[in-house]
Amino acid sequence: MGTRSAYVTKPREQITALLRAEPRFFSAAEIHRRLEDEASKVSLSTVYRTLEHLLERGEIAARVDESGESTYTMCAPERHHHHAICRVCGRVEDVTCSTMDQLAESLRQLHGFELDDHKMEFSGRCRACR
Ligand SMILES: [Zn+2]
Ligand SMILES: [Zn+2]
Ligand SMILES: [Zn+2]
Repeated sequence: MGTRSAYVTKPREQITALLRAEPRFFSAAEIHRRLEDEASKVSLSTVYRTLEHLLERGEIAARVDESGESTYTMCAPERHHHHAICRVCGRVEDVTCSTMDQLAESLRQLHGFELDDHKMEFSGRCRACR
């Protein structure tokens, strides 16, 4: 615990702090730019490597945006939920999933399809942007 250690923050801590501070999806380039603003020496390849690591650990979620770019946000995937994304400000809200039983039942009856997984994403305007 020398005096220098206070100034040395690991890339992983910097990136999780950034993602925690703003609930929205960031591209690796955006994260890199933000860290540069904080006069951080983290390289873009370190940002990519760190994001990959956080993804593997299940601490963040990834999403390919409209332009085909991979973006990342803080997430707790061990608790099943979906994301409602504001198309004005990009804010991400976690939405609990409760209406799947009915849909699973109609898939079974109408299509003979057995549902065992699903992905869903909601797009709209958040409380602040409505
Ligand atoms: Zn999430
Ligand atoms: Zn919004
Ligand atoms: Zn669900």
